Amino acid sequence: LPPGRRLGVAVVGLGTLALENIIPAFGEARYVRLAALVSGKPDKAHTVAAQYGVPAGSVYGYGDFDRIKNDPSVDIVYIVLPNSLHAEYTVRAARAGKHVLCEKPMAATVAEAEQMVAACRDAGRQLMIAYRLQYDPAHRTLIEIARSRRHGSIRMIEAINAQNDAPNGQWRQIKAMAGGGSLPDVGLYCLNAFRYITGEEPIEVTGRLTQPKDDPRFREIEDIANFTLRFPSGIFAVGTSGYSFHESRVLRVHAETGTIGLDPAFGYDNLALDIGRQEGKATAQEVRRFTPHSQFAREMDAFAASLHARQRPRTPGEEGLQDMRIMAAIYRSAAQNGAPVGL
Ligand code: NDP
Repeated sequence: LPPGRRLGVAVVGLGTLALENIIPAFGEARYVRLAALVSGKPDKAHTVAAQYGVPAGSVYGYGDFDRIKNDPSVDIVYIVLPNSLHAEYTVRAARAGKHVLCEKPMAATVAEAEQMVAACRDAGRQLMIAYRLQYDPAHRTLIEIARSRRHGSIRMIEAINAQNDAPNGQWRQIKAMAGGGSLPDVGLYCLNAFRYITGEEPIEVTGRLTQPKDDPRFREIEDIANFTLRFPSGIFAVGTSGYSFHESRVLRVHAETGTIGLDPAFGYDNLALDIGRQEGKATAQEVRRFTPHSQFAREMDAFAASLHARQRPRTPGEEGLQDMRIMAAIYRSAAQNGAPVGL
């Protein structure tokens, strides 16, 4: 457990995720506290500040954000803005001498992600990408069991993550702000899981996309992304994301003598592990549940613990950058009708 005081966090961007999930999670967190708010809407920010005991002097706008440099109550800047703004605020936060926790996807482009890694390195600050599932005990247990070879070696992994996006013209439907459609938003969870379950980096990917012509949601971005990854050990992974249906329950690791799955797999709570062990022609089923907890509290606490220990976080900028590179390769494949692209 990290010694010393709770680290102060400035939350940047008071949208749905920040207000509904991140800010309430401070009540459950042990090593961090909410120290400052950054928003383009001062009225909203001051209301939230009063509600959570943040001093009025620690409410910033985007224009005067750089003043945060002189705010000793802030150790970590947590960026919860639309994807295309992650790079700018990561660079500004690092230059202000703060550590950065940035929401996924890391950025809208590979070049931005590279710039973020470089800026934090140059400033001597840590950068963590908020891959909440890598801090969830259900996913940690899945990784442990899958890699233990208790059920033989992993052969194939499948995952589906999709959410029904409303036709609201929000930034998620604007390619320049989102970086893409369902792939970087929700398909990323499948892709990231394939990497942390195998512990390997893919050597080849394919990608196929759908983009329904008459649906206003998909003027600029894909609806469904279907992608495959080949890993050096021979493991094959198939992921699907979508923006026109809902599915967050499918993550299945097929090993030689058993299937280890999560159902639900990608949600915020109640994730359950499901192990099907082959016994002759029968399958023995085992289900494991976990104590309820906030993934957001855990991920923030984990960052604080790594800062106290002067270690890199489990999901540093390089982790996000690698996913950005793989997604770019998936898009390259899709642009060539699904032809394999080497990495
Ligand atoms: P929202 O649109 O609900 O919130 C984004 C906030 O960013 C806005 O409320 C606004 O806050 C601020 N903002 C600043 N400039 C702009 C702009 N030009 N257009 C729109 N908003 C702007 O998005 P979400 O909360 O859903 O997502 C934010 C980030 O979190 C994204 O990167 C997303 O991928 C990620 N996310 C991660 C999840 C997870 O499970 N880890 C789940 C959901 C989202 P203000 O009014 O205060 O200025």
